[in-house]
Amino acid sequence: MQTITLRLRLHRPTQAKIRRYRELVEHTTAFANNLVAAGRPKGLTSRTARAYLAGNLPSAVINQALRDVAAHRDVKTFRVLWPSFNNQNLRLKKVGDFWTASFPMQTGRVRVPLAVTRKQAALLERLGRDVRQGAAKLYEKRGRWFLALSVTLPVEEKTAGTESGKIAGIDMGLRYLAVVNAGGETLFFPGDQAASVRRRYHALRRRNTRKRDFGRSLHSWSFYRLQQFIAYKARLAGIRVEWVNPKDTSRTCPRCGHCAKENRNGIRFRCRKCGYRGHADAVGAWNISLAISGLAEAA
Ligand SMILES: [Zn+2]
Repeated sequence: MQTITLRLRLHRPTQAKIRRYRELVEHTTAFANNLVAAGRPKGLTSRTARAYLAGNLPSAVINQALRDVAAHRDVKTFRVLWPSFNNQNLRLKKVGDFWTASFPMQTGRVRVPLAVTRKQAALLERLGRDVRQGAAKLYEKRGRWFLALSVTLPVEEKTAGTESGKIAGIDMGLRYLAVVNAGGETLFFPGDQAASVRRRYHALRRRNTRKRDFGRSLHSWSFYRLQQFIAYKARLAGIRVEWVNPKDTSRTCPRCGHCAKENRNGIRFRCRKCGYRGHADAVGAWNISLAISGLAEAA
């Protein structure tokens, strides 16, 4: 089983609704902070907890806020506590072609339209079947309102690429966020996030010995995060991930297997033995996909 969060955007909420959402958020946050100020009293119910309210809140939100406050034991002040709803209180329903969500507010239940992506819609269709609905949180980001809905779904782990015949070699580096070799094609992903890393790389290069290859040796947090993210997304898609030792991947010739430091000069790759030429990062990705398919020569 795999739990993911669907960020469902509320479709064009009116100013009146937005005011009510904001009020709900303010009351939820004030309630949480009142509980903290009172020393986090234990054993409260949605009824006895009403003594700590700063404004009206529906019981459903009170119950979830009690859980959230208990779960964040170390928080001294909640800057914001978004109101959340359990799977009983948030109801998702398809009306015609559109998905809607209904949830309790201060003055009763509202049903609002959602702007969902095709992928999200496909998962929502499966609710109550093999996809289980979890809690949902109402939040605002850059002036837009969302419901962060957690759903649990089964994961089918497919067989390895060698059996399905489809393998992608991904080389992560500093010049490109990722270079992918798939089915004989090479794809370059410059990536916005790579820009700041690149800047740091150039700063490092200026300061250090010029020959050292930071593209390989820098185990930065962002690369670790990217790896985790790829593994996570791949697992959801039923794709098996294997990690390949990057040593020599960009100095080994993918055609003849000759490995030499001289094969590579910056972004240029030229095999000293067979004369094969290519982009060094593309060669890296190619060698990675070869390593996964078991065709690469043993290092
Ligand atoms: Zn060669």
